[in-house]
Amino acid sequence: MDFTETERAMDASASLVARESDPSRVDDLQKNSFYNSKENLIIAVGLWNMKRGTKTKVIRSDLGCVYFTCKHSDKCKFDLHASSHGGGMWGVHKLKEHSCQADLRRAKKIKTHSKVVAAYVANRIRDDGEVIKPKSIMAELVRDFGIKIKYDVALRARNLEMEMIYGRVDDSFLLLPRYLYALREANPGTLIGLEVDVDCRFKHLFVALAASISPFYFHLRPVIVVDGTHLKGKNSGILFVAVAKDGNEAVFPLAIGVGPIENDESWKWFMSHLRQACGEPENLLVVSDAHVSIANAVKSEFPNATYGICYYHLLNKIKGYGPGVAELFYQAAYAYKQSDYTRVMSTWLL
Ligand SMILES: [Zn+2]
Repeated sequence: MDFTETERAMDASASLVARESDPSRVDDLQKNSFYNSKENLIIAVGLWNMKRGTKTKVIRSDLGCVYFTCKHSDKCKFDLHASSHGGGMWGVHKLKEHSCQADLRRAKKIKTHSKVVAAYVANRIRDDGEVIKPKSIMAELVRDFGIKIKYDVALRARNLEMEMIYGRVDDSFLLLPRYLYALREANPGTLIGLEVDVDCRFKHLFVALAASISPFYFHLRPVIVVDGTHLKGKNSGILFVAVAKDGNEAVFPLAIGVGPIENDESWKWFMSHLRQACGEPENLLVVSDAHVSIANAVKSEFPNATYGICYYHLLNKIKGYGPGVAELFYQAAYAYKQSDYTRVMSTWLL
């Protein structure tokens, strides 16, 4: 099937196309099959081709009709005419089977469009309730139809299907204010921060649930560990996290944030909201990796707190200083008595 004539229109409505697809009609494409849009008809023909190992091309397409012929051979009698029936409905009114040689068809490499693959996996993702992996899609097409597709085609198909189910990622940003309002209404005492730039585009987010803030202030040790990690996907950005430890030595989530990059501005914005949420308890210790922007933000927003670098990151920095340093560092870091700490450090500094 040749998408060149219709690809532009399909790109504009890719999500809508697949959302309206009716797989039950796709399986039995025949004369008098009807589809609720022209795009869905084209998807159906693509899926029909994929399952049969055939290729067709569009030779004419306008507002009222679309004609397909065989792409394997000019002499083949394959003929598919579909036309608009009003109200967005499109119907197949002529379908003549291939007369070209099956050997000829098998010799041609089948190229499958990601939108067709997305239509193929559509219902199964919903039924399974989990996201299918691109490599699984590739394996299934080889197993079921003997068709090999590239990883990026499978990935685009999977992402199209994700958009059908969950909507576009870009649109989700528009829902943030309403979501955050509902979150605060349902969790009184929750602290929310949302910042946009001069063009009203998303910049920073901060969320500390009331169920996290209150226990920290009244029941947990005044130790906060912060870190940032890169978000994957189209919009990327950084996820900021702040956690404490509960009485069972388990990680206790305090707050999360999202920002564009890990720099002074983003960390300061996050830390200023963290201070609003958790205050600055007496003897507060803030621990992180050795990122200089975190150190700057702690100094600015928690001026009375002690700032420390976590054991793991500091160990990586000093273990090249000589034999036995790592062991001595471990003993000093895990000394529970001042006298033990002093003894280890004295040995170290000899
Ligand atoms: Zn043919």
